Amino acid sequence: MADQVVLRHVTKQFTTRTLGAITAVNDFNLTVYEGECFSFLGPSGCGKTTTLRLIAGFEDLTDGEIELCGRVVSNKEKNLYVPPEERGLGMVFQAFAVWPHMNVFDNVAFPLKIQGINKHDIQKKVKEALRNTSLDGLESAYPSDLSGGQQQRIALARAIVTNPKVMLLDEPLSNLDPKLRETMRFEIKELQRKFNFTVIFVTHDQSEAMAISDRMMVCDMGNIIQIDTPINLYNRPVNRFVHSFLGESTFINVIIQDGKVYAKGNMEQALDIPIPPDVDREMVIATRPNAIELTRNRGYKTRIEKRTFLPDITEYLVPMGDQLLKVQTPHRIKFAQGEECYINLVNPMWYPAEDKELETERLRRQLI
Ligand code: ADP
Ligand code: MG
Repeated sequence: MADQVVLRHVTKQFTTRTLGAITAVNDFNLTVYEGECFSFLGPSGCGKTTTLRLIAGFEDLTDGEIELCGRVVSNKEKNLYVPPEERGLGMVFQAFAVWPHMNVFDNVAFPLKIQGINKHDIQKKVKEALRNTSLDGLESAYPSDLSGGQQQRIALARAIVTNPKVMLLDEPLSNLDPKLRETMRFEIKELQRKFNFTVIFVTHDQSEAMAISDRMMVCDMGNIIQIDTPINLYNRPVNRFVHSFLGESTFINVIIQDGKVYAKGNMEQALDIPIPPDVDREMVIATRPNAIELTRNRGYKTRIEKRTFLPDITEYLVPMGDQLLKVQTPHRIKFAQGEECYINLVNPMWYPAEDKELETERLRRQLI
């Protein structure tokens, strides 16, 4: 697969009046391949939109280089900068960026008019784009007459009408209700299959990212933390942050003493798990509520503190040392409230104990 979007040491700094310099994007290196659906995932303020705007050419780099379809479009050192309209990208942003004073046809035709395409071809291409986004027959409607989903379809139609090789989507579904979001997700994938464009999709919603992506980049506070397939990110998160960002996490503070692992708050009963090399005395082990085994005969002895029936699972709260673990099981595994039980942690991940400084920096960034 050919490299389609390449970022080399891309850095963007902003200077803010109140908080000084912020490195919104810090030394990003990544390659998105042709035909791939690649997501930027991370909490608010981690640099997703800035990265997308750098690729689109709405922002200039502080440092580094961006290449699109084999052509360098931004390079700080060489003072090279190709404006957005010459980058050949399709774009859809979070807010319904459709022009309220133009009808559907004119909204979608706009990029073609800018390119100076003749009337006949514009008619043909707009019709085709509207058909592909289920907007047939709405040519003369105005955005205000349409639903949120339809308005976002106008934005999609306008993005595909020029037949771009790369489509940039910045939280395009986040203003829609959950059901519609799911439908639109499928529609975006369908359009991608049909037109074979590369997608860069920005979201802070882990399910959305996992459902739509071939690969994802998880970022935090202006840094790339991990790039991989959804399943690898879920199964082998490189740190606690990625672990907690994808799926539900159960973290247990543990203490290692005399070659044994103890849950913090209970130095009497060791946990039966192997200790990896290079651990500190205090560590955090991580697993998923649905990966913890609850049995009646072997493991860490405790009891059910609380049981809640949910539609698809039963959720138990179970003490371990001074902590309360959330355990999720299928309904067929039945324990009563107060009943004695045993817990097994299967292949947990190990991380260093919590880093308070990181948390403070995260809060600072979200306040801007
Ligand atoms: P995300 O899209 O992941 O929520 P952004 O890329 O919008 O994050 O922002 C990343 C960081 O850069 C944030 O700390 C944000 O406040 C800051 N930032 C973004 N745009 C500007 C700007 N124009 N001026 C100053 N700071 C900005
Ligand atoms: Mg954003």
